[in-house]
Amino acid sequence: MPLARLTAWVREELGEPAFRGKQIYSWIHEKRVFDFDRMTNLPAALRETLSQRAKLPAVTTRKRLESKLDDTVKFLFELPDRLCVEGVLMRYHHGLSLCISTEVGCAMGCTFCASTLGGLVRRLTPAEMLGEVYEAERQAGEPISSLVLMGIGEPLDNFDNVLDFLTILSSKEGRNLSLRHVSLSTCGLCDRIDELADLGLGLTLSVSLHAADDKTRSEIMPVNRRYPLEELMRSCRRYFSKTGRRISYEYALIAGVNDTPAHAERLAKLLAGQNCHVNLIPVNPVKERGTRRPDAGSVRRFAALLEKLGQNATVRRELGSDIAAACGQLRRSEAGEAPADS
Ligand code: SAH
Repeated sequence: MPLARLTAWVREELGEPAFRGKQIYSWIHEKRVFDFDRMTNLPAALRETLSQRAKLPAVTTRKRLESKLDDTVKFLFELPDRLCVEGVLMRYHHGLSLCISTEVGCAMGCTFCASTLGGLVRRLTPAEMLGEVYEAERQAGEPISSLVLMGIGEPLDNFDNVLDFLTILSSKEGRNLSLRHVSLSTCGLCDRIDELADLGLGLTLSVSLHAADDKTRSEIMPVNRRYPLEELMRSCRRYFSKTGRRISYEYALIAGVNDTPAHAERLAKLLAGQNCHVNLIPVNPVKERGTRRPDAGSVRRFAALLEKLGQNATVRRELGSDIAAACGQLRRSEAGEAPADS
């Protein structure tokens, strides 16, 4: 619970003074103590009541893979009900960046993505998302400096929990991480993008675009049938005008699907006039999907053509390619389902 709600709960439900809420919050988020019995400045009777009435769900590390090519670490996190999600810790010059999951599985059905192959199992609670952050920081032995919600799941499909998570994460009495250092990636749920814009949280929004025409996009991203490109672009422009935060568009290059010069021209035309950035990612092949990545030459030519047309773009540097660091691959191989090929 965010601090305000916790304080109200402690007062109204437990009949305790409000400052107890702040003490509990501090034990959890500052001292990282996940056991009521160890919260020594609380009266014994309150600790007992808390043990009966409240839960402190622990997130633990089931598996940890370290890249030999770079400093990337991939975690398979275990949730209290033993389901697993993934997180990735990457070292950049400005510090550690963590990518976390927001759902177990995903309902969005993008055809190139391993996370959605078994559908949505369940959404993560705010405590579980914080648990991913705290467990990664414990393992790393140092705090992270930025966070991306780009792991398994669609964060805007778990909207209320993600908002509570962000409230706690950024609260002064909590983890105190500025939302300026947080990016949220979405496949494009326009209503939610609009709500997020109105909240003005200062988050960076990444939008998974992957195609610049409705026909191609609907084929690879079913969400496009509900929120076609015209609507998505309207929401993205609105997000920028309300928040002043430049949007990052993700574009996974898939051989024979969206990687020709004509596709690059379409993309530049779609984004013309927007203050935005394009991240090009050679797709991570997922065996079940039969997706293939273009050769390095085509990727370079695609990027160069975008630049020539006035659209800034970078080809994403790949990290952890030897440890299946991309979305959804580890959870599936661990669950004994057909392993992804990367
Ligand atoms: N559901 C959110 C966030 C999770 S996916 C979203 O769609 O943005 C994180 C990013 O990885 C998205 O841009 C997604 O499209 C991309 N992605 C998924 N599978 C991929 C693959 N096999 N290769 C490259 N990028 C992939």
